[in-house]
Amino acid sequence: MNIFSGFKEILGQINKIDGSIYMKGRDFADVYAKNIALEEEIAERTKELERANQTILTLSSVWDMMNSSQPLSNMLDKIVSILHEDMNYSFAAILKIEKDDDKNLYFSVKSSSQNKSVNQVFSLINSSMETYKLPYVTNSIVVKSINEKQIYSTPDIIGILRMFFPELEESRLYEIMEGINSKSCTTVPLYSGKECFGCVIVSSERNDITDTEMNFLSLFANQIELAITVAGLFEEVKKQAITDPLTGLYNRRYFEENIEKEAERSLRLKQPFSLVSLDLDFLKKINDTYGHQYGDIAIKTIANVIKKEARSIDIPARIGGEEFNLLLPGVDSKGAYIAAERIRKSIENQVIETIGGITASIGVATFLEHSDRIDELTELADQAMYKSKINGRNQVQIAQLENTVNWQQIAIDTFIDILGKNRIPVNENISKVLNQKLNMIKTEDKNSNEVLYSVADIISQTYNQMYKTGTTKSKVILAAMVAKKLDLSKEETDKLKLAILLYDIGNIMIPEKILNKKDPLTDEEKDIIKQHPVIAAREILKPISNINDIIPIIENHHEDWDGSGYPGNKSGVEIPLMSQIVLLVDSFYAMAQDRPYRHAYNIDEIIEIIKNESGKRWNEKLVEDFIYVVKHESIQ
Ligand code: GH3
Ligand code: MG
Repeated sequence: MNIFSGFKEILGQINKIDGSIYMKGRDFADVYAKNIALEEEIAERTKELERANQTILTLSSVWDMMNSSQPLSNMLDKIVSILHEDMNYSFAAILKIEKDDDKNLYFSVKSSSQNKSVNQVFSLINSSMETYKLPYVTNSIVVKSINEKQIYSTPDIIGILRMFFPELEESRLYEIMEGINSKSCTTVPLYSGKECFGCVIVSSERNDITDTEMNFLSLFANQIELAITVAGLFEEVKKQAITDPLTGLYNRRYFEENIEKEAERSLRLKQPFSLVSLDLDFLKKINDTYGHQYGDIAIKTIANVIKKEARSIDIPARIGGEEFNLLLPGVDSKGAYIAAERIRKSIENQVIETIGGITASIGVATFLEHSDRIDELTELADQAMYKSKINGRNQVQIAQLENTVNWQQIAIDTFIDILGKNRIPVNENISKVLNQKLNMIKTEDKNSNEVLYSVADIISQTYNQMYKTGTTKSKVILAAMVAKKLDLSKEETDKLKLAILLYDIGNIMIPEKILNKKDPLTDEEKDIIKQHPVIAAREILKPISNINDIIPIIENHHEDWDGSGYPGNKSGVEIPLMSQIVLLVDSFYAMAQDRPYRHAYNIDEIIEIIKNESGKRWNEKLVEDFIYVVKHESIQ
């Protein structure tokens, strides 16, 4: 072998080694590259997993929201905040498709992430997010995505801004664009059933969206659709629960809740509010002449007038069939009269097909001016409305202040008179305590009912130790319920309540040993007991001028329907109806309590006894109504 060939061989060897080194190097580079690729894949998969995890979390929080029956606006804000904060989109908004008066489509912003750029846009166009109408441009990517039910992504954010805010200068658009800090914008259509109602728009710092992201957005959109449908339904149900379906006005329950709130506010701020009570005239005649559907049209016409005339803070409500109330916060009786008169005229000017015209009778009462109690205010507004009816209908009457002397005040004055002038022989100490109680409610002008009932209870206990505290209150409530069932006026009901408080006061004159006797009474003793209503009426109450109307009720409250009662052996209609009610209420509670000579009866036994005496002791029709009340109301 010569040197050359030897050299060649060595070179060959070197090449071989070099080659194998090269090969090894290549293997190594391969492995290295594979490694990197693997690592990248792992990182990508981890990211995907994280995203999937986030997706599940996000979807589950939307699910939670759906179950929490949150109001729709909260729900939308939450969805936007999930997209913006949890899912890292630089901007997110929910748009709703709307129609203007000319039936042109536009988008309204239901919720949007808040940032400087958003604020800047709306201040530049001098509008607010809530009121701005985003143009609905048919060939835009947003509308395309809606029409094709597809998610679309575009890097042309400026184009979208230009479309939504056409009045902004180009330089401004770029300024805003910088603030948004995004490279792409994605639009996701939202459907409810087959109908598209809006879209979600998100922008991202990434150039384009991956398939995983696309999947997430479409899943998310489904959840948003469901959430919005559920929240919308919930809102609808809530709206139905506070409004009247025929007229769309608030219903009675909503009105009652709000008049309470208004009264609290009014007392706190010492500011009045007015209550306008309105009743459609001659509805029965409209129903009878033209049919019920025209009656409904008349009711709706009135409702629309009230709606149109009411300010946004007023509360218009349908209280019953053809009865409406309008609450006017901060308005005194003069202002309310003007408002009511405007409504009256407007109703009178409505022309209704077939019926022609309708009218309404209106009453006005003002809180703090006429009363500072809601029940009384409602009653006064009602009375004023009735006065309008009596005076010829189609007019407005303001509540009368002189009507406000209520039965409680008369009762307090009567008790003070009786006790202060020692008209009844009660123990001096008791009399003193009772006088103090009565004076206290009189001067402090508190809600006096409870004290008043307790005074009446204590007086009853002085001659009947078995008289249970609380019975007077129950009697008054039961009597008022019966009065309501019989459609008695407020005036008559008040008289009845007073009579209930006072009818047995004459018992104080009866010797204690007869009242509490365990053995049957002798005829002579019975005669003494029969004297008490007369004694009460004549000796105790006659000198008190305010309650002259009550005396005949008390004087006759032991007369029986068939003439076998006392003291006058009157019968049938000779006996005032209210005396019969007093007798029934008195007997009902007497039977429900223990007596020295018998145990208390239960309610079924009492009803049975009353039924057996129907037509004998009391009027049959009254017994029927009385038993209805006892069975259907919760009687204590
Ligand atoms: P007035 O001027 O004294 O108020 O006479 P009126 O006929 O309007 O009043 P009345 O209280 O005698 O009769 C009310 C009628 O309204 C009786 C009832 O059948 C009817 N009504 C109550 N609610 C509705 C309703 O929702 N639709 C219709 N069409 N009629 C109703
Ligand atoms: Mg009517």
